[in-house]
Amino acid sequence: MNIHEYQAKELFEKFGVATPKGKVAATAEEAGAAAREIGGTGLVVKAQVHAGGRGKGTFTNGFKGGVHVINTAEEAQEIAGKMLGQTLVTHQTGPEGKLVSKVLIAKSVDIAKEHYFAILFDRSTSRHAIIASTEGGMNIEEVAEKTPEKIIKEFVHPTLGLQAYQCRKIAAALGLRGALMTQAVKLFTALYKLYIQSDCSLVEVNPLAITTDNQVVALDAKFNFDDNALYRQKDIVTLRDTSEEDPREVAASEFGLSYIGLDGNIACLVNGAGLAMSTMDIIKFHGGEPANFLDVGGGASKDQVAAAFKIILGDPNVKGILVNIFGGIMDCNVIATGIIAAAQETGLSLPLVVRLEGNNVAAGKETLAQSGLAITGADDLTDAAQKIVAAVAAA
Ligand code: ADP
Ligand code: MG
Repeated sequence: MNIHEYQAKELFEKFGVATPKGKVAATAEEAGAAAREIGGTGLVVKAQVHAGGRGKGTFTNGFKGGVHVINTAEEAQEIAGKMLGQTLVTHQTGPEGKLVSKVLIAKSVDIAKEHYFAILFDRSTSRHAIIASTEGGMNIEEVAEKTPEKIIKEFVHPTLGLQAYQCRKIAAALGLRGALMTQAVKLFTALYKLYIQSDCSLVEVNPLAITTDNQVVALDAKFNFDDNALYRQKDIVTLRDTSEEDPREVAASEFGLSYIGLDGNIACLVNGAGLAMSTMDIIKFHGGEPANFLDVGGGASKDQVAAAFKIILGDPNVKGILVNIFGGIMDCNVIATGIIAAAQETGLSLPLVVRLEGNNVAAGKETLAQSGLAITGADDLTDAAQKIVAAVAAA
């Protein structure tokens, strides 16, 4: 799960991570009022979307930049008016962009230096890792690719936690001395506490700014939370904004299905994550492009299968469907009845290839055959992939 920058900054305040004062607004008038409330000159208006790269983004109405430094409440209102209700395209949103329905008005700071600082879970070492760099700002991806030696890494011991010496080591590597080091160590410690207590899998601060008056402040915030821990993070769950998520993924989560939308045109409905991944691989191997990852789980019901089918068909890019089921706990006949119910309800007209194997497979195949639907059977994975790729190519 992700959250917006303005929500992240509320968490920063709660945990004592230094960040400029800010206020969220949903209308241009609210933005003007927020600017007056924060007061003074030197403010920023920031589009709130679940994507980075906003500073260098462009709105579909031609307005440039999702982050603007301004000086008066009138300007805040004017700029917010140009952003709200518009779609912002950045290198992280994809070409379709993201609708901006809120802006953050915050105090602007005079930046002397932009660093990069992140805490994330590193699967290769099974440890939380601190990633930092003096090359912060808006091009960190390029830094990691072209000059990986400029990326500082520090791993956290699982039982000891982040140690003060490690914080000082990172601060020193960022060139921070004296009072700046003290502030940085305090900020890193607070951020790590926030990361652990909120079950985050990523907290990224880019830029971690050093101001001209020698303050260390977090200017941007990107959070990922571990979905498997959300059951014990009731406060975090309330921050979810489903309008920022793929509607297909939101619908799938309501039915307890694991669905991830992709760009291809061959939809897959599979039981088991490993089989779902190999199904995607074999579609690609035979020259097709999967439209999704979809795992209906080991013991799906007829209703879940029907729901999964409808989610697949809700994607206008889908030109064919491959159902690949290995019945272990799953009864193949349950899958067959779910497919038929969904196909009848939605008036399915796309090519559909079904490979069933395992538990009660004979009854499942019989049910499909008797349905009168135009379903192509397949005997194994290769056969199934070749048939669906050919059917989509012919359509
Ligand atoms: P994104 O990463 O989505 O582009 P950021 O929040 O990092 O958005 O903002 C982009 C840039 O705008 C930052 O690198 C920084 O230079 C500037 N900026 C952001 N917030 C402030 C602020 N409060 N004061 C001054 N400059 C800011
Ligand atoms: Mg940023």
